[in-house]
Amino acid sequence: MRRRVHNVFMTEIASDRSPANTILRLVAAGTVTSRAQAARLTGMARSTIGLHVDQMLRDDVLAENDEPQGARGRPAKELTVGRGAGYVVDVIFDRTETSVAISDASAAVVDSKTIDILLSQDPEAVLEQVFATGDTLLAEHGLEVDDVRQVIASVPAPIDFQKGVTAHRSIMAGWEGIQIAKILGDHFGAPALMDNDANLMALGAATTLHEDELPLVHLQLSTGIGAGLITADSKIHRGADGSAGDIGHLRIDRQSEVACQCGKRGCIGAYASLHAVMAQLGIEEGTGVDPRAARKTLTQLVRRSDPATLAALRDAAVHLGYLTAILVDMFNPRTIVLGGPMVELSDDVLSTVRGVVYQEALSVATRRLVISPSRLGNKAALVGAARMGADELLDASLRGGRPASRADA
Ligand SMILES: [Zn+2]
Repeated sequence: MRRRVHNVFMTEIASDRSPANTILRLVAAGTVTSRAQAARLTGMARSTIGLHVDQMLRDDVLAENDEPQGARGRPAKELTVGRGAGYVVDVIFDRTETSVAISDASAAVVDSKTIDILLSQDPEAVLEQVFATGDTLLAEHGLEVDDVRQVIASVPAPIDFQKGVTAHRSIMAGWEGIQIAKILGDHFGAPALMDNDANLMALGAATTLHEDELPLVHLQLSTGIGAGLITADSKIHRGADGSAGDIGHLRIDRQSEVACQCGKRGCIGAYASLHAVMAQLGIEEGTGVDPRAARKTLTQLVRRSDPATLAALRDAAVHLGYLTAILVDMFNPRTIVLGGPMVELSDDVLSTVRGVVYQEALSVATRRLVISPSRLGNKAALVGAARMGADELLDASLRGGRPASRADA
C-alpha cells in the first residue's frame, strides 16, 4: 500500500513564519478548518491561536462559514480565507482563445470567462478585451480594485521572467517588446507576474500530485513543445535566466532541411509539434487561416483513422519519446505528465512516448517513473496561475505588505 502523504502544497510549519501567517496558510491549504485543528497541528497554545484567528476575522483575512455542519462532533463553523486576504486576476493567453479568471488566497478559481479571440490579432485589441472581461468579472462578484492584490499572466511563448515580456521574436509574433505584465498590472492596479504556459501548466499539474510523486516534468505537446519542471520541493525550476524547459527548438537533426517556425532547421518542433504534423499532412495553418479550423480538420482525420494521419502522429510521438527519455535521464523525475492536443487527439501518442522512454532511458530512472496524461486538460495553466497567485498573496501577508512584482525588482 502506498505511504500516506500530503499534497505537495499542504503547508509545512516553517519557523520563519509568523503565527498568523502559519494559520492563514493552513486554512488556505484546506488543512485546517478550526481553531482546535490549528492548535493540534502547529503545537501553538489555543489562546495564541484564538488571538490570531480573532484578529484575522476582524481584518476579514479569515472568514467563518456560518453553515452548520450537521455531523455530530464537527465544529459548527468552518474557517476559510476571507475577502481581506485578497484576490488574483489570472490572464491565460492562448493562440485561439484567452481566459480571464479571478482566484483567491486558497488558489480556488472563483470565476472565469473565455474570450474568443486569436492571439495573432492586434495585441491592443486582445488587451482591451482582457481589461473589459476582467472588469466585468470583478463587478459581477462585487470586487473593487483594492481587492485585487496580484495579477498572473500566462503566455504560450518563452519569456523573460524578470522583465515580463516575451523572449522570442517569431513565437507570439506582434507581441515582442510589449510589457504585458506591466500593462496588466497597471490596469488592474496590482503587481503582476508573467510566466510561460509550460511552467504554469507544470505547477497546475503538481497540485494534482502528492509529495512523493515529485519531481515532475510536464510536457505540453501543442502547436509548439514546451517543458515545465517542478522540483522535489514543489517549486518551478526556471534555471539561471528563466529559460529552463524551453526545449521546443532543440535541434535533433543538424543536416535537416525541415524548416521550423523559429527560423532554424531540424528543431524537434519541426518534427514533433502539432504544427509539424499539420504541415506534413498538408493542413493549411498559415497566416490568415483560423487555427481552430485546422485543428478540427486534424481531429476529424484521427476519428476516421486516416492512415497517413495516424502514421504522422506516431512518428511525432517517437521523436517526443526520445526527447522525453533525455529529460528523464537529465532530471530523473518521478512523474511525467503529458498535456496538450497531441495527447488528447490519440491514445497512441502517450503509449508510443511511454514505450520509447522505457526502452531508451536509464532503467534506474524509469523503475518508479509514472508517465500519465494531464488530468487538468486545458485548465492546467489556469490552475497553475491560481496556485502561483495564492502563494504571492500568502507571502505578502507574511511580509505584511503588497505582493511582489518581479518587474520592479
Ligand atoms: Zn525551431
